[in-house]
Amino acid sequence: MNHAEQDLAGRSHAALEDAVLQTALKSATDTFISRRREAVAGVPEWQALRARARRVKEHTINNLDYYLEQLAEKVREHGGHVYWATTGEDVGHYCIELARARGVTSVVKSKSMATEEIELNHALEAAGVRPIETDLGEYIIQLAREKPSHIIVPAIHKTREQIAELFAEKLKCGLAREVAEITAVARERLRGEFLSAGMGITGANFAVAETGTIVLVENEGNIRLSTQVPRIHVAVVGIEKVVPRFEDLSVFLRLLPRSGTGQKQTAYVSFLNGPRRRTRGVEADVASRSSEQGQASESEFEFHLVLMDNGRTRILADERMRESLYCIRCGACLNVCPVYQKIGGQAYGWIYPGPIGAVVSPLLQGLKQAGELPFASSLCGACRDACPVDINLPDLLLALRAKVKEAGADVGVARNFAERTAMRGYAAAVKRPKLFAAAGRLVRGLARLVSKDGKVRSAGVPALGEWTKYRDLPAPRGGSFRERWKKKR
Ligand code: SF4
Repeated sequence: MNHAEQDLAGRSHAALEDAVLQTALKSATDTFISRRREAVAGVPEWQALRARARRVKEHTINNLDYYLEQLAEKVREHGGHVYWATTGEDVGHYCIELARARGVTSVVKSKSMATEEIELNHALEAAGVRPIETDLGEYIIQLAREKPSHIIVPAIHKTREQIAELFAEKLKCGLAREVAEITAVARERLRGEFLSAGMGITGANFAVAETGTIVLVENEGNIRLSTQVPRIHVAVVGIEKVVPRFEDLSVFLRLLPRSGTGQKQTAYVSFLNGPRRRTRGVEADVASRSSEQGQASESEFEFHLVLMDNGRTRILADERMRESLYCIRCGACLNVCPVYQKIGGQAYGWIYPGPIGAVVSPLLQGLKQAGELPFASSLCGACRDACPVDINLPDLLLALRAKVKEAGADVGVARNFAERTAMRGYAAAVKRPKLFAAAGRLVRGLARLVSKDGKVRSAGVPALGEWTKYRDLPAPRGGSFRERWKKKR
């Protein structure tokens, strides 16, 4: 059975048994967590910033129609085109028609989760337009023909050695030993693609309604090249990315890089207002080396803003779930999630992984298709603490679980008789404090009995088989939490 055919449990088991993946995930998430912690510690007003960001998002999402109209009007004033796409197919159709009308045969793309969400590359390829991912992580994923496994670090699951082997196989280059060699190969290959592509497709981190500005943050410079070298720039933007005012960026541009990569600021922040203007020198240089572009006059530069719904208005209509549209796709909730840390992004089976993915994937794809995801959470709350816009992810996950069960889905159930019996016993005891305390004493005693060297291992208790297959449960020490709490007080 291949990866795509497996269910969440099957994919998770495969991930847990992959030692290389486990090492890559641990190293990457540990690094991001400690970088973020340091970056946040340097901002004493962090909680106030979070609260302000949440207020801005709440206000914007509650008045989305107004701000989207304002954004569209401003973009048109700058000379840009605006297309309202209801579905992912609409986006694909628009991009393909535009490419055909302008004779474009290759497109450079910069990391855009929105286009990953709708599998735009497949649509372009099927129409004979060659898409080339230019973000290093996305380039690696495209060569490997895989899905990204993290919102901001698509190839987080790959080690340097795996990437070197992939490059050697697909690009027919020597086996690189150092990271610098790998990036040099990618840079050399991609430079020609930038110069020959007739169109650049990006997403957007923010779209400012009052000025019609598209804001993109990055570290590699590939977004700059994708938006400034080809004649046509298409920004595919989810409708939730709009922010009302330019000054709101002062909040979000402080929160996003610190939460995502632990940086104070990313290396590049681009503010784009309509089509590119002609720049002497740069223009001549690009045109002299470009095959598809030739000499362009200013009127030939185009900017197209594609505002994509693709299920977002359905989320907007649900008052409880609307909060998930506040997400600024920083990836912090993924890094701190104990489930994501162990299974990685691809095991989730959809483009958005981690806690936010477990919320938005069922909402965008349907409860039937992705209804098992809200159950892939320990509800520990680390995701909410890390979220720069304070989305109450555990609450949303719980509410979604209820929706999934109300819809009659057969998910979130114990997988064997012993686990089912244990869960039923737990459900009965938890409603009766005295029985719960007695059962706790019994379970603690049993756990101590089957433990070895202070650990309960999988062979010990059949009901805990799945829970202890990949980790040991520490044997209980001392009394119950409530007993210890009483003593402390
Ligand atoms: S839910 Fe919050 S923490 Fe997670 S990606 Fe979105 S903004 Fe970042």
